[in-house]
Amino acid sequence: MTDNNDYALETLAVRAGQVRTPEGEHAEPIFTTSSYVFDSAAEAAARFKGESPGNIYSRFTNPTVRTFEERLAAMEGGARCVATASGMAAILSTCLGLLQQGDHIVSSRAIFGSTVVLFNKYLAPFGVETSYVPLTDLAAWQAAIRPETKLLFLETPSNPLTEVADIQALADLAHENGALLVVDNCFCTPVLQQPLRFGADVIIHSATKYIDGQGRCIGGAVVGDEETVGEKIYGVIRTGGPSLSPFNAWVFLKGLETLAVRMKAHSDNALALARWLDVHPKVARVHHPGLDSHPQHELAARQQSDFGGVLSFEVEGGQAAAWQVIDSTALLSITANLGDTKTTITHPATTTHGRLTDAERAEASIGDGLIRIAVGLEHQDDIRRDLDRGLSRL
Ligand SMILES: *Cc1c(COP(=O)(O)O)cnc(C)c1O
Repeated sequence: MTDNNDYALETLAVRAGQVRTPEGEHAEPIFTTSSYVFDSAAEAAARFKGESPGNIYSRFTNPTVRTFEERLAAMEGGARCVATASGMAAILSTCLGLLQQGDHIVSSRAIFGSTVVLFNKYLAPFGVETSYVPLTDLAAWQAAIRPETKLLFLETPSNPLTEVADIQALADLAHENGALLVVDNCFCTPVLQQPLRFGADVIIHSATKYIDGQGRCIGGAVVGDEETVGEKIYGVIRTGGPSLSPFNAWVFLKGLETLAVRMKAHSDNALALARWLDVHPKVARVHHPGLDSHPQHELAARQQSDFGGVLSFEVEGGQAAAWQVIDSTALLSITANLGDTKTTITHPATTTHGRLTDAERAEASIGDGLIRIAVGLEHQDDIRRDLDRGLSRL
């Protein structure tokens, strides 16, 4: 390939980052090596000093990992990507690389549960405080910012209510206040949304989800500019060691090759299911950004190229009714995971959001009758029939 800017995302997904070895292999190989050899003592010394480019040790760099990083960076439109052992390692490394004692984070309240635990239980003792605000309330974000605020952190669309944040507005707010905007882009992937183009500074990925797409490996990545990601965050990873294994990197880079077609299929299936649920007599409310009734439908249409594979809906009758719908399925997988070819169904109030107090759950609008579906790639008629087993008997 010549310049990445000459190619569309679908092409970059298949081609970017590959450097063929003298063997002329067509597919990308897996480099399972922990270290690398040098031609001479002088060459070793030059590499260790950073004067000569090249691999030293796979905690620092590995050719398979680098192919994945360069491919994902190209797809997000970022200068640099560094891969990590998990999505949580990507968030931890970002915090360690960019924050110090006395700094402050303003975060959306509707973020991944482990991220909340990371901020509250593991960063707080190091003197980093986090304030939480409703994702779509710009005035609340503004009011929460302090002189020591260094990061604004969000996921959009949110889980499980699929609320959509205005990335450009929050990036502007961050920059006016000398902070960076970090977007966890796990639900959209670069196929549906490229937050750097709306002014975000750092992109987080859990590659475990759609990038793998078939539920096999744990991994993550951070994308952004050379100084923020290539120096500060990469420095934490190569020293602290949450580096991605070459095998997992290979699974993910092959996942990227089919990501565009998969995200379109997930989105098509989810929108069809959302529309069916929306008129189902036993369903009180459906949350999916593709529905005209969604409060940020217009924003999602502007900011995303499609609406994604996750939706949630509410049934009357609380936990008992929700559990009946879930337990009546014969095909769907009862699991909190997402981004898989297999459709998953979960009850947020007693699983992903089960650690919240009743008051916190009420504030977050996670009702007892709420069910979340991460729509997979099975035929939509079969998904519908499986849900209707329980719904029709309510
Ligand atoms: C799963 C997930 C994470 C954490 O990723 P792991 O790979 O499980 O560490 C972070 N953010 C979001 C939005 C997720 O869904």
